[in-house]
Amino acid sequence: MFSLTPETRFALDAVRQASLLVREIQAEMVSPALTKDDRSPVTVADFASQALVARLLADAFPDDPLVGEEGSEALRTPQEADTLEQVTAFLKRSFPEADPASVCAWIDRGAASPAFRFWTLDPIDGTKGFLRGDQYAIAFALLVDGEVQVGALGCPNLSEGYRPDPGGPGSLVIAVRGEGTWLAPLDGPETFTRLHVSTVSDPAQARLLRSFEAGHTSVGGIDLFARKLGIAAEPVRMDSQAKYAVLAAGEGEIYLRLLSPKKPNYREKIWDQAAGALVIEEAGGTVTDLDGKPLDFTAGRTLANNRGICATNTVLHPAALQALA
Ligand code: AMP
Ligand code: MG
Repeated sequence: MFSLTPETRFALDAVRQASLLVREIQAEMVSPALTKDDRSPVTVADFASQALVARLLADAFPDDPLVGEEGSEALRTPQEADTLEQVTAFLKRSFPEADPASVCAWIDRGAASPAFRFWTLDPIDGTKGFLRGDQYAIAFALLVDGEVQVGALGCPNLSEGYRPDPGGPGSLVIAVRGEGTWLAPLDGPETFTRLHVSTVSDPAQARLLRSFEAGHTSVGGIDLFARKLGIAAEPVRMDSQAKYAVLAAGEGEIYLRLLSPKKPNYREKIWDQAAGALVIEEAGGTVTDLDGKPLDFTAGRTLANNRGICATNTVLHPAALQALA
């Protein structure tokens, strides 16, 4: 087992509570009657998840900064008064003292800048998956001196393998630097199993993971890559950092985040990569950018010094980078 330090205990509790809250919001708000572009459930869940984690962090580690994806500006406008009321109602279930002003203040605790020691949060990674009933994740990481020390992923629809399993137990994954990557059911009990990447070494046998959304990658580039390596199987399309948990569990060998031809200068956000990268590395995998460079978490809110992501089970990393070059 990994050490249950105050930090690992907190990461587990915060991610579990946020995951369960988001799952409740999904059950109560996402209905087939939603119009195609009604994003209100994801908006409510995003803000509620960040407010909850920020509130918990203020109690547990009052001096630690939080770098979160969301800010409350949009919520404070008169048009969003209803949304803010809904977010507040969900927060009251855990914190009876919650009111709109305190909820906005909690969310804005996530506006901090990266520091020597800080936490980074994606309150819902894979918002499209959340709305579709596919994979999504709550991603939370502790960084110290530019290195991810703890990474935790709550994946409410990930049970076994990579098939979406709404209504299943879900997964809670934690990686601790030097102490491995561990999995427990999100619904409890907290019995952890250690995760290891797959040992597949023949590139042609590799199972390739990619974003579900075509706009977050280059579909043509992935096809070309698969042809170069002689991979016959179709890439597995999946939203969010659930992909990193799947690779860590040995259910896939290569994960590519190519640059979208429409956004060639896109730079990854730290909350989209920090937790997932440690989850893969501590399971024996390797994560670099598309040029083979290590991820540099010292460049602010984005990975400004890296282009895209290439993650593998390590054995296949040289072949993957060669195909990318
Ligand atoms: P995924 O589900 O793996 O596609 O990742 C979802 C994340 O992709 C979101 O949290 C966004 O921050 C991020 N994202 C948004 N636009 C882009 C883009 N053009 N290229 C890569 N990632 C993006
Ligand atoms: Mg995200």
